[in-house]
Amino acid sequence: MSKFSEYNFKDQKALIRVDFNVPVNEKFEITDDNRMKASLPSIQKIVKDGGSVILMSHFGRPKDGPSDKYSLKHLVDHLQQLAGSETKVLFATDSIGEDAISKAKNLKPGEVLLLENLRFYKEEEKGDEGFAEKLSKLGDVYVNDAFGTAHRAHASTAIIAKFFPADKKMFGLLMEKEVESAEKVLHNNQKPFLAIIGGAKVSDKILIIENLLDRATDIIIGGGMAYTFYKAEGGKIGNSLCEDDRLDTARELLEKAKEKNVCIHLPSDSIIADKFDANADVSGALSNTIPDGWMGLDIGRMATESFCKIISNSKTILWNGPMGVFEMEKFQHGTKAIAMAVAAATKNGAFSLVGGGDSVAAVNKFHLADKVSFVSTGGGAMLEYFEGKTLPGIAAIQS
Ligand code: AMP
Repeated sequence: MSKFSEYNFKDQKALIRVDFNVPVNEKFEITDDNRMKASLPSIQKIVKDGGSVILMSHFGRPKDGPSDKYSLKHLVDHLQQLAGSETKVLFATDSIGEDAISKAKNLKPGEVLLLENLRFYKEEEKGDEGFAEKLSKLGDVYVNDAFGTAHRAHASTAIIAKFFPADKKMFGLLMEKEVESAEKVLHNNQKPFLAIIGGAKVSDKILIIENLLDRATDIIIGGGMAYTFYKAEGGKIGNSLCEDDRLDTARELLEKAKEKNVCIHLPSDSIIADKFDANADVSGALSNTIPDGWMGLDIGRMATESFCKIISNSKTILWNGPMGVFEMEKFQHGTKAIAMAVAAATKNGAFSLVGGGDSVAAVNKFHLADKVSFVSTGGGAMLEYFEGKTLPGIAAIQS
């Protein structure tokens, strides 16, 4: 593979897989253009070098081929605005058909061509080789800048790479940063390495915890999933979230952690509520003696204090999942305190990576996204990476 920042794109047509799957309202106005903005640095570097850009993306979940609702044509004007008036943005009404072929062929240096939604072709998600090969013919160089789909072996995210020689395929700037940050945390971490895992369900996080048991020094487990662990150990958790079919798994994870000398930290106390409601009555309790009729919706004061101490002693921090129902003001304190502690540790030299939908939402809510080392854009992809799986989109470039 080549390194994007060192590659000279002069007179090259770069085929970039981006993630333009942005939310739009019923008037097709983009309600959050962060994903489009995130791809700009790669596009700008190619244009500046004197190359041209062919953008490939999916958009929504079209079921039966082309439809107006899922057409990427709705994004063209906004892309033109973002790219600036000096960069001409064109649109092809298909992805591998006549329009795409002729517009790609006639594309001039400095121009950007957006192809129609790849998922209008069922071959895309099937990872069809013929479809991937046709896409590959449109450009000279393949760039993958869509980390969010790196865990899918789709035609445009992985299969296409085999039609380019090693020096003509690479990660884009966004994806390169994702991969470098994730590798730094998983394989090149400085110890103590702390993983903070939260959120609702143990079942979603078993594989990630198992994989981290071979790497982390400490693992903090917060959020709704902590109560399954407390119940597994014989605690009383009232009406707190619990997966009864995962009690054995929780016990096994605690056992394995002991064997591997990894400290698992559960929240010793909780903020409890009499119902799952923003206006619920609130009290505090030890997490293993929550009264009947009450539920733990946030980590308590003692737990927060002890977690913050562990965070401040860590050199590498991975955070996935909130400590409580942070969407409600009464139960946001634990997550906010953890976010602030991660920011403070980062300021003191720790490397921190925040990933997974809700912890990203949390650092954004508390305006701390720029105070951590890296915020991952790929929820599912990042989770699978930390579960120890090989991501097809990464492997296809590296092999
Ligand atoms: P996940 O997608 O598994 O990371 O879970 C995130 C969701 O878990 C958020 O919407 C939180 O509101 C929710 N959550 C966190 N802590 C709790 C809790 N103690 N009880 C119920 N839900 C929780």
